[in-house]
Amino acid sequence: MSSPRPPRPRPRRRALRAALAALVPVSLLGTCAGSAHAVPKAAWPEPVAVVSRVETTDPVVFVTLDDGWNHDPAAAKLLLDRRVPASLFLLPGAYAYDSGYFHTLLDQGPSRVENHTVSHPDLTALDAAGQKAEVCGAREAHLAEFGDGPRLLRPPYGAYDATTRTTARACGAKAVVTWTHDLTTWGTDPVPMPRLKAGDIVLLHFNGTVEQDLRRVLDAAEAAGLRPAPLRGYVGE
Ligand SMILES: [Zn+2]
Repeated sequence: MSSPRPPRPRPRRRALRAALAALVPVSLLGTCAGSAHAVPKAAWPEPVAVVSRVETTDPVVFVTLDDGWNHDPAAAKLLLDRRVPASLFLLPGAYAYDSGYFHTLLDQGPSRVENHTVSHPDLTALDAAGQKAEVCGAREAHLAEFGDGPRLLRPPYGAYDATTRTTARACGAKAVVTWTHDLTTWGTDPVPMPRLKAGDIVLLHFNGTVEQDLRRVLDAAEAAGLRPAPLRGYVGE
Protein backbone atom coordinates (compact mmCIF):
# COMPACT_ATOMS: atom_id res chain seq x y z
CA MET A 1 0.00 0.00 0.00
CA SER A 2 1.42 3.23 -0.97
CA SER A 3 1.42 5.90 1.61
CA PRO A 4 1.27 9.21 -0.17
CA ARG A 5 3.49 11.83 1.25
CA PRO A 6 1.54 14.19 3.45
CA PRO A 7 0.89 17.09 1.17
CA ARG A 8 0.68 19.86 3.70
CA PRO A 9 4.15 20.64 5.07
CA ARG A 10 5.66 21.61 1.74
CA PRO A 11 3.08 24.14 0.69
CA ARG A 12 3.22 25.43 4.22
CA ARG A 13 6.94 25.92 4.06
CA ARG A 14 6.61 27.52 0.68
CA ALA A 15 3.93 29.80 2.02
CA LEU A 16 6.12 30.66 4.98
CA ARG A 17 9.05 31.41 2.72
CA ALA A 18 6.89 33.54 0.50
CA ALA A 19 5.59 35.41 3.51
CA LEU A 20 9.10 35.98 4.79
CA ALA A 21 10.28 37.12 1.40
CA ALA A 22 7.45 39.59 1.26
CA LEU A 23 8.39 40.89 4.69
CA VAL A 24 12.07 41.37 3.91
CA PRO A 25 12.70 44.18 1.47
CA VAL A 26 15.33 42.62 -0.73
CA SER A 27 16.91 45.95 -1.53
CA LEU A 28 17.40 46.48 2.21
CA LEU A 29 19.72 43.52 2.21
CA GLY A 30 21.53 44.51 -0.94
CA THR A 31 23.32 47.74 -1.64
CA CYS A 32 22.87 49.16 1.83
CA ALA A 33 24.17 46.17 3.75
CA GLY A 34 27.37 46.90 5.63
CA SER A 35 28.78 43.51 4.74
CA ALA A 36 27.11 40.61 3.05
CA HIS A 37 28.10 38.01 5.62
CA ALA A 38 26.67 40.07 8.49
CA VAL A 39 23.21 40.05 6.97
CA PRO A 40 21.89 36.54 6.43
CA LYS A 41 19.37 36.28 3.65
CA ALA A 42 15.74 35.63 4.46
CA ALA A 43 16.08 37.20 7.89
CA TRP A 44 15.80 40.68 9.22
CA PRO A 45 19.13 42.26 9.96
CA GLU A 46 19.87 41.91 13.63
CA PRO A 47 18.86 45.12 15.42
CA VAL A 48 21.73 47.33 16.51
CA ALA A 49 22.13 48.49 20.10
CA VAL A 50 20.86 51.87 21.27
CA VAL A 51 23.51 53.86 23.10
CA SER A 52 22.88 56.94 25.23
CA ARG A 53 26.11 56.65 27.22
CA VAL A 54 29.08 54.33 27.01
CA GLU A 55 29.99 51.98 29.84
CA THR A 56 33.69 52.53 30.27
CA THR A 57 36.23 53.12 32.98
CA ASP A 58 38.39 55.15 30.60
CA PRO A 59 38.41 58.87 31.47
CA VAL A 60 36.62 59.82 28.25
CA VAL A 61 33.67 61.87 27.08
CA PHE A 62 32.13 61.93 23.63
CA VAL A 63 31.45 65.15 21.74
CA THR A 64 28.76 64.97 19.08
CA LEU A 65 27.56 67.79 16.83
CA ASP A 66 24.32 67.59 14.88
CA ASP A 67 22.75 68.92 11.68
CA GLY A 68 25.48 71.21 10.31
CA TRP A 69 23.62 74.35 9.23
CA ASN A 70 25.97 76.89 10.80
CA HIS A 71 29.53 76.80 9.46
CA ASP A 72 31.27 78.79 12.18
CA PRO A 73 35.00 79.09 11.41
CA ALA A 74 35.82 79.61 15.10
CA ALA A 75 34.20 76.28 16.00
CA ALA A 76 36.16 74.50 13.29
CA LYS A 77 39.37 76.11 14.50
CA LEU A 78 38.66 75.03 18.07
CA LEU A 79 37.94 71.42 17.00
CA LEU A 80 41.13 71.31 14.92
CA ASP A 81 43.39 73.12 17.40
CA ARG A 82 42.34 70.83 20.25
CA ARG A 83 42.26 67.74 18.05
CA VAL A 84 38.72 66.89 19.21
CA PRO A 85 37.53 63.57 17.73
CA ALA A 86 33.95 64.74 17.35
CA SER A 87 31.16 62.74 15.78
CA LEU A 88 29.44 64.95 13.19
CA PHE A 89 25.87 63.84 12.54
CA LEU A 90 25.41 65.86 9.37
CA LEU A 91 22.45 66.35 7.09
CA PRO A 92 23.42 66.19 3.40
CA GLY A 93 21.56 69.46 2.79
CA ALA A 94 23.77 71.21 5.34
CA TYR A 95 26.92 70.54 3.34
CA ALA A 96 25.41 70.71 -0.14
CA TYR A 97 26.04 74.47 -0.32
CA ASP A 98 29.45 74.47 1.42
CA SER A 99 31.11 71.11 1.76
CA GLY A 100 34.55 72.67 2.20
CA TYR A 101 33.87 73.48 5.85
CA PHE A 102 33.37 69.81 6.67
CA HIS A 103 36.07 68.55 4.32
CA THR A 104 38.50 70.63 6.35
CA LEU A 105 37.21 69.21 9.64
CA LEU A 106 37.24 65.62 8.43
CA ASP A 107 40.44 65.73 6.41
CA GLN A 108 42.59 67.75 8.80
CA GLY A 109 41.25 66.53 12.15
CA PRO A 110 40.10 63.38 13.90
CA SER A 111 36.35 64.06 13.53
CA ARG A 112 34.14 61.63 11.63
CA VAL A 113 30.91 62.05 9.69
CA GLU A 114 27.92 60.07 10.97
CA ASN A 115 24.30 59.49 9.94
CA HIS A 116 21.46 61.84 10.86
CA THR A 117 19.15 60.90 7.93
CA VAL A 118 18.56 62.86 4.72
CA SER A 119 15.74 65.21 5.69
CA HIS A 120 15.48 65.04 9.49
CA PRO A 121 12.10 63.31 9.83
CA ASP A 122 10.65 61.61 12.89
CA LEU A 123 11.62 58.10 11.75
CA THR A 124 8.91 56.49 13.87
CA ALA A 125 6.34 58.10 11.57
CA LEU A 126 7.81 56.27 8.54
CA ASP A 127 7.41 52.68 7.36
CA ALA A 128 10.40 50.44 6.69
CA ALA A 129 10.86 51.67 3.12
CA GLY A 130 10.69 55.28 4.25
CA GLN A 131 13.22 54.75 7.02
CA LYS A 132 15.53 52.95 4.63
CA ALA A 133 15.37 55.81 2.13
CA GLU A 134 16.31 58.30 4.86
CA VAL A 135 19.09 56.29 6.48
CA CYS A 136 20.68 54.56 3.48
CA GLY A 137 20.22 57.76 1.48
CA ALA A 138 22.29 59.76 3.96
CA ARG A 139 24.94 57.06 4.02
CA GLU A 140 25.23 57.14 0.24
CA ALA A 141 25.42 60.95 0.23
CA HIS A 142 28.19 60.95 2.88
CA LEU A 143 30.12 58.29 0.99
CA ALA A 144 29.84 60.23 -2.25
CA GLU A 145 30.91 63.51 -0.67
CA PHE A 146 33.50 62.45 1.89
CA GLY A 147 34.50 58.93 0.89
CA ASP A 148 33.69 57.79 4.41
CA GLY A 149 30.61 55.83 5.40
CA PRO A 150 28.85 56.64 8.66
CA ARG A 151 28.94 53.92 11.32
CA LEU A 152 26.56 55.50 13.83
CA LEU A 153 22.96 56.62 13.36
CA ARG A 154 21.47 59.40 15.42
CA PRO A 155 17.74 59.47 14.74
CA PRO A 156 16.36 63.02 14.59
CA TYR A 157 14.76 64.05 17.92
CA GLY A 158 16.19 60.85 19.39
CA ALA A 159 13.04 59.11 18.10
CA TYR A 160 13.47 55.50 16.98
CA ASP A 161 11.57 52.22 16.92
CA ALA A 162 12.35 48.56 16.22
CA THR A 163 12.44 49.23 12.47
CA THR A 164 15.04 51.96 12.99
CA ARG A 165 17.35 49.48 14.70
CA THR A 166 17.21 46.97 11.85
CA THR A 167 17.37 49.71 9.23
CA ALA A 168 20.48 51.10 10.89
CA ARG A 169 22.18 47.72 10.52
CA ALA A 170 21.07 47.37 6.91
CA CYS A 171 22.46 50.83 6.16
CA GLY A 172 25.91 50.16 7.58
CA ALA A 173 25.52 51.51 11.12
CA LYS A 174 26.65 49.56 14.16
CA ALA A 175 24.59 51.51 16.72
CA VAL A 176 21.76 53.94 17.19
CA VAL A 177 23.20 56.77 19.28
CA THR A 178 21.17 59.20 21.34
CA TRP A 179 22.84 61.28 24.07
CA THR A 180 23.44 61.68 27.81
CA HIS A 181 23.36 65.50 27.94
CA ASP A 182 22.01 68.00 25.40
CA LEU A 183 24.20 71.04 26.13
CA THR A 184 23.12 73.05 23.08
CA THR A 185 22.24 76.66 23.82
CA TRP A 186 18.92 77.20 22.09
CA GLY A 187 17.77 80.36 23.85
CA THR A 188 19.82 83.16 25.32
CA ASP A 189 21.23 81.29 28.31
CA PRO A 190 23.44 78.22 28.21
CA VAL A 191 22.13 75.02 29.75
CA PRO A 192 23.53 74.56 33.29
CA MET A 193 26.61 72.38 33.00
CA PRO A 194 26.14 68.97 34.62
CA ARG A 195 29.02 67.15 36.26
CA LEU A 196 30.36 65.16 33.33
CA LYS A 197 31.18 61.50 33.94
CA ALA A 198 33.22 58.93 32.03
CA GLY A 199 31.28 57.63 29.05
CA ASP A 200 28.88 60.56 28.75
CA ILE A 201 27.73 61.48 25.25
CA VAL A 202 27.30 65.23 24.84
CA LEU A 203 25.00 66.62 22.17
CA LEU A 204 25.72 69.99 20.57
CA HIS A 205 24.54 71.54 17.33
CA PHE A 206 26.15 73.62 14.63
CA ASN A 207 24.14 76.66 15.67
CA GLY A 208 25.00 80.29 16.37
CA THR A 209 26.56 79.51 19.76
CA VAL A 210 28.43 76.37 18.73
CA GLU A 211 31.89 77.71 19.52
CA GLN A 212 30.93 78.89 23.04
CA ASP A 213 29.00 75.66 23.70
CA LEU A 214 31.93 73.59 22.56
CA ARG A 215 34.37 75.58 24.68
CA ARG A 216 32.20 75.11 27.79
CA VAL A 217 32.01 71.37 27.20
CA LEU A 218 35.74 71.01 26.62
CA ASP A 219 36.47 73.05 29.75
CA ALA A 220 34.01 70.99 31.82
CA ALA A 221 35.52 67.76 30.51
CA GLU A 222 39.00 68.94 31.38
CA ALA A 223 37.85 69.99 34.87
CA ALA A 224 36.40 66.49 35.36
CA GLY A 225 39.62 64.84 34.20
CA LEU A 226 38.02 63.57 31.00
CA ARG A 227 39.31 63.75 27.44
CA PRO A 228 37.23 63.68 24.27
CA ALA A 229 37.44 60.30 22.55
CA PRO A 230 36.15 58.94 19.24
CA LEU A 231 32.70 57.45 19.78
CA ARG A 232 33.04 55.02 16.88
CA GLY A 233 35.86 53.27 18.66
CA TYR A 234 33.83 52.74 21.81
CA VAL A 235 30.63 51.39 20.28
CA GLY A 236 30.70 47.68 19.60
CA GLU A 237 29.50 45.84 16.54
ZN1 LIG B 1 19.08 67.06 14.25
